[in-house]
Amino acid sequence: MNIKQTANNDNLPQPIRVGVLGFGGLGQAAAMVVAPKREMTLVAAADKGGYAYSVAGLDVLSAFAAYQSQGSVGYLEPVGTITNSSIQDLLANNHSVDGYFLALPNLPNDFIANVTKQFIASGWRGVLVDAIKRTSAVEQLLEIKAELKAAGITYMTGCGATPGLLTAAAALAAQSYAEIHQVKITFGVGIANWEAYRATIREDIGHMPGYTVDRARTMTDEEVQALLDKTNGVLTLENMEHADDVMLELAGIVDRERVTVGGVVDTRNPKKPLSTNVQITGRTFEGKISTHTFTLGDETSMAANVCGPAFGYLKAGVKLHQQGIHGLLTAAEVMPLFVR
Ligand code: NAD
Repeated sequence: MNIKQTANNDNLPQPIRVGVLGFGGLGQAAAMVVAPKREMTLVAAADKGGYAYSVAGLDVLSAFAAYQSQGSVGYLEPVGTITNSSIQDLLANNHSVDGYFLALPNLPNDFIANVTKQFIASGWRGVLVDAIKRTSAVEQLLEIKAELKAAGITYMTGCGATPGLLTAAAALAAQSYAEIHQVKITFGVGIANWEAYRATIREDIGHMPGYTVDRARTMTDEEVQALLDKTNGVLTLENMEHADDVMLELAGIVDRERVTVGGVVDTRNPKKPLSTNVQITGRTFEGKISTHTFTLGDETSMAANVCGPAFGYLKAGVKLHQQGIHGLLTAAEVMPLFVR
């Protein structure tokens, strides 16, 4: 038996049945994060080539083995299905899933908005969480806020690290001030090889001068490799179009022009090239100008800082959904709940 029992005082008597869409770097890390949790059971996973669903919970290590040796979680016996339309087929089968973490590439830039429209059209009700990065991608979701609400979906957007954990930290830190002057996010990411996070690296390349999302999407692996060879594996990113800005603006904290995001990604070394931090500068009610700084521990990986918050927001989203609160919410307006 794989069904986990839980007793808590959060009105969540049964483990939350979660699905992970996208089973690459983040999707697999997400499965590892959920595996030991008693409040959540991973019942579904999907990638480009197939999906797996089991009401009793997926065996995570066997799912990794299927993905790594045969290229898709759809090869997971006996619960996998091979298909080129995994998300559509998963939804068509009406499986019981309370919430999905969308660990999908947002390539092209409207991919996640289009997947969301598929969820709306399917009649499924539940919680969706993304770790989407671009401002324009969140704006596409804002456009379908009313449809999400009417469909009975509680959609939590921007719930990774940045946007996500750091945006939420900025929202919390803002409380000390009467007026916010600047929010400055600086991230450092270290990964051993870029192939483990292809979509993340392609999306980052899309922010570099002379590149676009579409250019990065259509680059072959060899072209990405050649670019990384030129930069010694390091990507330096400045003034990125990151949704932390629209999220903090929507939460009524600061105008988007005052939010900046940049960072350094080393694709050849798991050690972070710099400490990820967010600095929130403002004026207190007494007239003092000050800066709060929230710095992530250097030992924490990108995957830990994305997947932990994503499930924390998924749990919060389930509570909101149970209370009939549907529509679109961001990581800057809701506290994530710790998943046990
Ligand atoms: P990846 O390239 O490692 O994996 C992508 C996965 O999606 C693969 O399993 C692939 O098969 C699957 N996929 C692709 N098209 C699909 C489709 N049509 N249907 C079903 N599955 C499909 O990706 P990654 O590096 O893990 O990145 C995932 C996302 O996470 C990216 O959009 C990235 O920007 C985002 N991200 C966010 C943050 C944050 O802090 N907010 C940080 C890192 C990454």
